[in-house]
Amino acid sequence: MRRILQAVIEGAPPPEWASLPIPDSYRGLTVHKDEVGMFEGVPLRDRDPHASLHVDEVAVPEPQIGEALVAVMAGSVNYNTVWSALFEPLPTFEFLERYGRRSPSAARHDLPYHVLGSDLAGVVLRVGPGVTRWKPGDRVVAHCLSVELEDPEGHDDTMLDPQQRIWGFETNFGGLAELALVRANQLMPKPEHLTWEEAAASGLVNSTAYRQLVSRNGADMKQGDVVLIWGACGGLGSYATQLALGGGAVPVCVVSSPEKRDICRSMGAELILDRDAEGFRFWQDDNVPNRKEWRRLGSAIRELTGGLDPDVVFEHPGRETFAASVYVARRGGTIVTCASTTGYDHYFDNRYLWMHLKRIIGSHFANYQEAWRANELIRRGHIHPTLSRTYPLRDAATAVHDVHRNAHHGKIGVLCLAPEEGLGVTDPETRQRVGDRLDLFRASHPYEPI
Ligand code: NAP
Repeated sequence: MRRILQAVIEGAPPPEWASLPIPDSYRGLTVHKDEVGMFEGVPLRDRDPHASLHVDEVAVPEPQIGEALVAVMAGSVNYNTVWSALFEPLPTFEFLERYGRRSPSAARHDLPYHVLGSDLAGVVLRVGPGVTRWKPGDRVVAHCLSVELEDPEGHDDTMLDPQQRIWGFETNFGGLAELALVRANQLMPKPEHLTWEEAAASGLVNSTAYRQLVSRNGADMKQGDVVLIWGACGGLGSYATQLALGGGAVPVCVVSSPEKRDICRSMGAELILDRDAEGFRFWQDDNVPNRKEWRRLGSAIRELTGGLDPDVVFEHPGRETFAASVYVARRGGTIVTCASTTGYDHYFDNRYLWMHLKRIIGSHFANYQEAWRANELIRRGHIHPTLSRTYPLRDAATAVHDVHRNAHHGKIGVLCLAPEEGLGVTDPETRQRVGDRLDLFRASHPYEPI
């Protein structure tokens, strides 16, 4: 591993990369199959990722047809790692077992441990047969769509492929590790004005927000659209806010603290609601919705927008907010959802949907083209990573705990092979042009881990 790191830091030329020896094992953040029952009977909120996550030494997988082995300089924490660590809504070993039954190559993924992580920035070490676009030595980031494309359904939009999986969540050998195995068609050029940890922050959430909000497959946002963004300072929301601002839309950002309100302002948003200060309660109890509160949210939005209702609602909290989201969308508006963090049994009053001709769109990650376009926005310095804190790999469980407890801002990075923060920039001109936009989440408002 030391020679690989040295080659990255010294910027070894491509011929040297092909002959670098690959170690037999590497360190990665894992959950263990024999521990999936450890939280039985423990409420979700009280489950501690420190108990279920491990940093293990595991065997290096050999890249096969269409695959690449990548030296991971940095990764980032996504909410899917929280789900894996809590074994909710099901242990991710069930995904690996199902995948493993598909073919001998897929069977490599069905192991007693699951190396997690769906983002990376690093350098290609080896490519498998059939890979021509990428070569050892290429500096890359990876998006997390792993897709087979043997069936016809995925050939218009790869997200519709029946064998579509999220790498590092539904497959093994993820990016919170020193090495990772990806399909070569997950690779994208590293934005070279960014450090390794900044470059690793965006892949999953930026691509998801891009499809959800901008793409024709999602809300197809237009200039001037009012966009209600839940969790505007979180992983998805911090990119949705930037995409809305950059696309000429008007984000109405919902957050839960004065610090997050300030961060939204510094991103350029003007219309901000603090749901904590407002004390919204969209449910009277577990089963009775609180319609008055939907109306109160609608009035608060109109007050900010000068009377306009949201053309688009960017949904992901799920059960807690969904009925209010359907209610406040304008006549003919769109509610676009990609998640259910607070519960997936949603309720809404259908009269407000059909009588007012609204649409609900389901959205999930992004196809390669959408992920590539989203990455281009970062590479060109239009959208910026929202990294607030970075942990070394050995402390990755604390990073996951921060996200589980909603203590974080934006994104949390994890240093994998990178020995320290700040390395990896080879385009200082773009970095200078982007200026302090890279520090909005980190410098001004470092959050305190719980
Ligand atoms: P995150 O970084 O934790 O951000 C979520 C934000 O939601 C938080 O910052 C929080 O902001 C807000 N929130 C939490 N509880 C809320 C509640 N009860 N009511 C309203 N807002 C609430 O997570 P993320 O990365 O954005 O991911 C969010 C969800 O999307 C997760 O469930 C994740 O698994 C899912 N996801 C799905 C896809 C996909 O492809 N389908 C991709 C990415 C993520 P405030 O406290 O400031 O309001």
